[in-house]
Amino acid sequence: MKAIAIVGKKKTGKTTLGMALVKCLTGRGLKVGVVKHSHHGFDGAEGADTEEYKKIASSVAAYSPSQSFVSWDRERTVQDLMPLMDVDVIVMEGGNKIGWLPRVLMVREDGDNKEFYPELALKQYPACTRDNPPAAEDVEQLADMVMEKGFLLPGLNCKACGRDFCMEFVADILAGKAKVSGCKAMDGDMTITCHGNELGFNPFVADMLSAGITAMLKQLKGYVPGDIHIHIKNGS
Ligand code: SF4
Repeated sequence: MKAIAIVGKKKTGKTTLGMALVKCLTGRGLKVGVVKHSHHGFDGAEGADTEEYKKIASSVAAYSPSQSFVSWDRERTVQDLMPLMDVDVIVMEGGNKIGWLPRVLMVREDGDNKEFYPELALKQYPACTRDNPPAAEDVEQLADMVMEKGFLLPGLNCKACGRDFCMEFVADILAGKAKVSGCKAMDGDMTITCHGNELGFNPFVADMLSAGITAMLKQLKGYVPGDIHIHIKNGS
């Protein structure tokens, strides 16, 4: 990969040159990523510059002492994005077709919710607005429910649990017919964590990786069978 930094004092035209360079490289058929640093966050002019870069670059990463984010000019899978998030709880807004986590359904009085897979719902809530917000006690109860019953499956649809889709497994968990620990993709002898988040993978892939890595490790002096930990620093 080629890379260059454009540096200089304020108002020396860094963004102007950067935008011109990105347009030029993009015009040559290259995918260009932009990384923008700001000491002051991205609420003001720096944010506007970043928005402009988003219009012409394939991806834009921005970081400041108070905020960092990455955007792409295309869809990425949720599985790609979640390991970057480094959080305790994920609240996903939208994603009706994502069937590997439970949901709460927002309903209007006259609404037909069949298209929103009610079998995946922990609870339904009446529609609300900013002027008509949910009651504080309802939000507290929802937070308690999320901490007690919220979960995330790897979303591989690998069929190892006997269901064709993770969505069916989620429905069975909510119906009390299965447990999260029954997901075979999270239940193998091998675990991989990325930024502290455990990644799910197909048991077949796990077996292949495990066998391959073990075979390589056996060639190393000092190898003894048992629990093995491999830590990759700054993997890219
Ligand atoms: S084993 Fe896990 S990842 Fe595979 S289909 Fe079942 S729930 Fe989904």
